[in-house]
This record gives sequence, structure tokens and C-alpha cells, in this order.
Amino acid sequence: MSDCLFCKIIAGDIPSDKVYEDDKILVFKDIAPKAPTHLLMIPKQHIASLAEVTEQDADIMGYMMIKVPQIANQAGLSGGFRTIINTGDDGGQEVYHIHIHILGGAGRMPFV
Ligand code: 5GP
Ligand code: ZN
Repeated sequence: MSDCLFCKIIAGDIPSDKVYEDDKILVFKDIAPKAPTHLLMIPKQHIASLAEVTEQDADIMGYMMIKVPQIANQAGLSGGFRTIINTGDDGGQEVYHIHIHILGGAGRMPFV
């Protein structure tokens, strides 16, 4: 997806502050953090949003769920963290390459 911001970040065409990378996913710092730690986890394969996910994506979606607590632990979020997946216009999604927000580091977060 040549016009996708996060695909450009994966390709290295746009710089990012990476905290983890493997053959399937990339995790980098959000450019406008909403908490002391605010990371974005993305799959290297382009999936537009959670609304687009199909059973074909079960492996990568499961893989990301398993990696989230590992990355949170690596980031020092021992007290817990919040994950958010904004989906579609009504969900407040701005970048249409699926991403999991990982937020924490400011003590107990307010109820949603
Ligand atoms: P969404 O609203 O789609 O769930 O979240 C998109 C997130 O991407 C926002 O929190 C925004 O700050 C972040 N973001 C947008 N552009 C960039 C960028 O170029 N680099 C990084 N690191 N984050 C970005
Ligand atoms: Zn993309």
C-alpha cells in the first residue's frame, strides 16, 4: 500500500522511533503520546482496520495479542497498561493500517 503512512514507516521511507521489530510486526513510539508510554504495534502486512480482519488474519492477530504483554513488560509497564484499537471513522481511526495502541506509565488510568 504505497499511500499508507504505516506501510511507509515499515519500509523505512518515514522515520520512526522503533522499540521492537521482527519479521511479522513493528512497534514504535506514537508521535503524539497520550501517556508517558504510548506505543503503536502494527503488522507488517497491510490490514486496513479491525473491521477488515478475516479468518485469514487469525495467525497475525493472535501473534500480536501474545506480543503485547511482552512489549509492555519490556517497556517497564509492570503495573499494567491499556490497549486500544480505534476502528473506522466513528471509532476515531485516523491511520487505516490496523494498530494496537499500548498506553501506560501514569498510574491508574481513568475509566473509559
Ligand atoms: P488512530 O487515531 O488511527 O487510532 O491512531 C493513529 C496514531 O498514529 C495517533 O495516535 C497518531 O499520533 C499516530 N501517528 C500519526 N502519524 C504518525 C507518524 O508519522 N509517526 C508516528 N510515530 N505516529 C504517528
Ligand atoms: Zn499499510
